[in-house]
Amino acid sequence: MKFATFYHEGRATVGLVDAEAARVWLLDGLLGRPAGDMNAVIRSFADIEGRLAPSGPGIALDSVRLAAPIPRPLRNVFCVGKNYFDHAHEFSKSGYDSSAGPQASAVPEVPIIFTKAPETVIAQGEAIRFPTGLSDSLDYEAELAVVIGRGGRGIPKDRAFDHVWGYTIINDVTARDLQSRHKQWFIGKSMDTFCPMGPWLVTADEVDPADMRVRCWVNDELRQDASTGDLIFDIPSLIETLSAGLTLQPGDIIATGTPAGVGIGFTPPRFLRPGDRVAIEISGLGRLENPIA
Ligand code: MG
Repeated sequence: MKFATFYHEGRATVGLVDAEAARVWLLDGLLGRPAGDMNAVIRSFADIEGRLAPSGPGIALDSVRLAAPIPRPLRNVFCVGKNYFDHAHEFSKSGYDSSAGPQASAVPEVPIIFTKAPETVIAQGEAIRFPTGLSDSLDYEAELAVVIGRGGRGIPKDRAFDHVWGYTIINDVTARDLQSRHKQWFIGKSMDTFCPMGPWLVTADEVDPADMRVRCWVNDELRQDASTGDLIFDIPSLIETLSAGLTLQPGDIIATGTPAGVGIGFTPPRFLRPGDRVAIEISGLGRLENPIA
């Protein structure tokens, strides 16, 4: 199943999406009561799942304005750095990698985890704000994001998928100069509008996260094209690592890292400029496109 958050009669509401038919049904209507926001839907999903079938004509998807599927995450979005081999090498060679020292190898031995503030999240179609005066090295990162359904602490790898509710697409937008200068990556990755997410959430039963094609275009030029099968640390490893000492909560989001082909991977680097458009597609998850304003 696919679930979107969209604006209906002046407020954000959750709907069940049929992407092929390009229609969406209000969850409030299907349940006969207020469904709450996406985090409430995730928390109550086991109780409501059986009643979530399209009923009636629904609403044309192209007539509604989408919000991000989780417009305001309950806490920071967890992110993984350097999690594809080819990207780890391109980043280490770029001169912008403050985590790479002379002793360090390009490929990390344990997952590198950082976060983005909840307020960075924007929807499909919304503009990424060019950080005029703050950075001139704006970059894109196409990523598969995992949405946690059942919380937990100390989750072992072989139980990890029991805790995954679904997936979506995230663009881990980054100001490379700030990422490098401040050593810790938070500032360069956590400016307003730096986390496009969507277009919707797809439940875990619909996709195989071990082999999803991740592609990213800038102005229709293909820049990134890889499989999630090439992750250095797979989803169970990431969940085990994160949950070892921190209780994961329903609605938590983990962006799994980006493949090779980002702007700093080119010589000279090819950074984003106002007027550019970044589009990301991941198999089974849809397309997320955002302009730079
Ligand atoms: Mg990233």
